[in-house]
Amino acid sequence: MKTTDVVIVGGGVMGWCTAYNLMADGFRGSVLLIERDPLRRNTSTSLAVGGFRQQFATEINIRVVRYAVSVYRDFAELMETPNGRPDISMRQNGYLFLASEKTWPAFQRRHELQTRLGIKVSLMTPEQACELVPEMDPTGVVGAAFCPDDGYLDPYSVLQGFEAKARHLGVKCEYAEVIDVEKDGQGVTAVKTKTETIATRTVVNATGAWAGEFARQIGVEVPVRPWRRQVYVCRTPLSGREFPMVVDTTGVHFRSETGNRIVAAGATASDSVTFDVAWDKPAFEDVIWPALANRIPCFDTLLLEKGWGGLYDENPIDHNAIIGRHPDLPGFYLINGFSGHGLMQAPAAGKGLAELIMRNEFRTLDLSDLSPTRFAAGKLIVEEAII
Ligand SMILES: Cc1cc2nc3c(=O)[nH]c(=O)nc-3n(C[C@H](O)[C@H](O)[C@H](O)COP(=O)(O)OP(=O)(O)OC[C@H]3O[C@@H](n4cnc5c(N)ncnc54)[C@H](O)[C@@H]3O)c2cc1C
Repeated sequence: MKTTDVVIVGGGVMGWCTAYNLMADGFRGSVLLIERDPLRRNTSTSLAVGGFRQQFATEINIRVVRYAVSVYRDFAELMETPNGRPDISMRQNGYLFLASEKTWPAFQRRHELQTRLGIKVSLMTPEQACELVPEMDPTGVVGAAFCPDDGYLDPYSVLQGFEAKARHLGVKCEYAEVIDVEKDGQGVTAVKTKTETIATRTVVNATGAWAGEFARQIGVEVPVRPWRRQVYVCRTPLSGREFPMVVDTTGVHFRSETGNRIVAAGATASDSVTFDVAWDKPAFEDVIWPALANRIPCFDTLLLEKGWGGLYDENPIDHNAIIGRHPDLPGFYLINGFSGHGLMQAPAAGKGLAELIMRNEFRTLDLSDLSPTRFAAGKLIVEEAII
């Protein structure tokens, strides 16, 4: 039987980032990543909007993204291989959150914490916000928060960057579906695909929106479910204009894309628990477009070009990442439940999990608040800055 020290199940950003960090941090064992779909058709990483923001309401999420931003800034150098340096099209145009009368007190509370942790966030009047986005109609906006270090990047290039570097450092990859994990009294002993059994004492669940289903399949519980979301790409009448990521009071948000385009998203009626990634085109006219045109009046002439549906890896209990050892199955590690924030948290999550596997402790960033044991201990993370 083939033997491998670590098997990572799932080839999205979490799987490849963990694999990269193991090797970059000097892991001497063998690492095998198993991904079932070579084309990554439904892989959430490839379907993400790519926004990153440090404007969270909890210390752990602020620290996690702050670390991630530092990695993304140096990504080209860190992920360089003999084939070259990846370009992740990172833009630090900022995130501009718009507040209604109801949400403004929470903005002020968050600002205090964010500033204390060294994040450059400014609270603004509606007039100041309009200086950043002059096309904006501020009706109903009572204030705003802006962090110039936030922004967006190209998710698929991030995935390719981690993958290429991890492979260069010696990680092996197989395309197959993991259908079971075998155990003995001490924990994990092997993973099974349809065609082979691979002996290992360490398995990483990096299966994204499928993490709950995969865990159930092997006989343990992980609180993650697929939550469908929608994305719309439009041409705008504005040329040569780069926006910050603008988060409207309605929750509808958009960022710039090349060629006078924007990428827009927001809650629609088709958001639901399902593995079906069908695109809800009518929701653009019903929900997204009215909100966009209301806020940016010249967006009433937007041209909807394309869009897609994708799955959030949603943790329905407290909507935050779950990183660490599974409490009921030794050797089974989790890097799950990012609930729509995985791209912006991956560098910290992968680094932390690699440290836990190799050294049995977090060294770079203490991620113990995100442990899977928090559910039984009643130590949930209450993060109110969710879009
Ligand atoms: C529409 C949308 C917009 C988003 N926008 C943002 C954003 O702006 N910013 C941000 O930070 N995050 C965003 N996210 C969230 C982010 O994309 C995810 O949190 C992140 O990509 C999760 O990465 P992952 O590696 O855990 O999962 P995935 O990328 O889904 O990878 C999991 C992989 O596991 C594989 N797999 C599953 N089961 C098995 C099995 N049994 N055997 C083998 N392989 C298996 C799957 O094929 C898949 O390739 C968005 C997500 C969506 C859907």
